[in-house]
Amino acid sequence: MYDVVVVGGGLSGLMAALEAKRNGSEVLILERSNELGGKLQICSGETCNSKIEKYAKRCREVLRDLVNEIHSEGIEVMYGRHVEDIKRKEHFQIYTGLEYVDTKAIVFATGTKDKTRFTLNIPGDRVSGVFTESMALELITSGLIIGKNVAILSHNYEGINTAKKLLEHGISIIGIFEEHEKETSLNLGIPVYYGARVTEIRGKGRVERIRVSIDGKSQWFSCDTLVISAGRIPNAKMFLKLKAEMLPSTKGPVVNSNMESSIAGIFACGTVVDPNCDFDCALQQAKTAGKAAADFAKQ
Ligand SMILES: Cc1cc2nc3c(=O)[nH]c(=O)nc-3n(C[C@H](O)[C@H](O)[C@H](O)COP(=O)(O)OP(=O)(O)OC[C@H]3O[C@@H](n4cnc5c(N)ncnc54)[C@H](O)[C@@H]3O)c2cc1C
Repeated sequence: MYDVVVVGGGLSGLMAALEAKRNGSEVLILERSNELGGKLQICSGETCNSKIEKYAKRCREVLRDLVNEIHSEGIEVMYGRHVEDIKRKEHFQIYTGLEYVDTKAIVFATGTKDKTRFTLNIPGDRVSGVFTESMALELITSGLIIGKNVAILSHNYEGINTAKKLLEHGISIIGIFEEHEKETSLNLGIPVYYGARVTEIRGKGRVERIRVSIDGKSQWFSCDTLVISAGRIPNAKMFLKLKAEMLPSTKGPVVNSNMESSIAGIFACGTVVDPNCDFDCALQQAKTAGKAAADFAKQ
């Protein structure tokens, strides 16, 4: 039986696990992928500069230091474990698809998922070459080329940051199609279409063109890749399944000042609570959640 199981090994999960361990808990991290770091792996450049302690470094360095600390503290990690179910008894029993894990407290740090063409109800052909922002960044960070003529669908100016990251990797962009009508002062040397809505995706096998409604007028644009940068929603399915109280504005779980959800003993931190939680917010919440979960396990 573990004291604290942390679900998700991204920035907030790693920090929560360290804090729980430092507060005397036997800790396990369950991570669905084969590596730690979550979205931190696709943050680029200097942008992870943090106001908190020693974390004012580039993302890669922060990630490397956190992973080293996890190992030096002897925290157990299980990879390839997608948490699918949780049963409440006197303690919690987590089902990973491979085994049952017993624990006194749980910290959810499962991050967010990107909105897709299906979430946005964009009709057309089912073609390759349509990526969410995270997928596109993951691929280019691993050195892969996602396409030659990339169009970016953008909501709330999210696509502008994506474009900057793609340009850093030498990707050619045919345009950013931003839903907002209000223009921002920006000069990336690529066209930005405001008041634009992608309404159709066409191609044989691979995307070849997209139909865009700009100020109500429909136009076709040729491209071989579409990156959807339309924001993220919390990966909070398990909270819905457990019938925890949810916050409609964030679509994440309601938490108290200890980052405890409406279910006693289940805590949450980072972007699963609020998709707009930035680096410092994720670190701060994770420290609170890790300590509170350790305290809960001692009860
Ligand atoms: C595209 C993008 C770019 C960003 N760029 C920057 C940047 O440049 N600078 C910056 O400061 N911030 C950036 N951010 C924000 C930053 O990534 C977050 O503040 C922080 O990394 C969030 O960490 P997290 O631990 O909450 O979530 P995540 O990093 O998403 O980690 C969640 C982890 O949980 C795992 N997981 C999910 N579901 C399950 C499950 N059911 N079972 C087991 N494991 C599961 C995932 O595999 C993942 O490892 C960016 C975010 C995104 C999406």
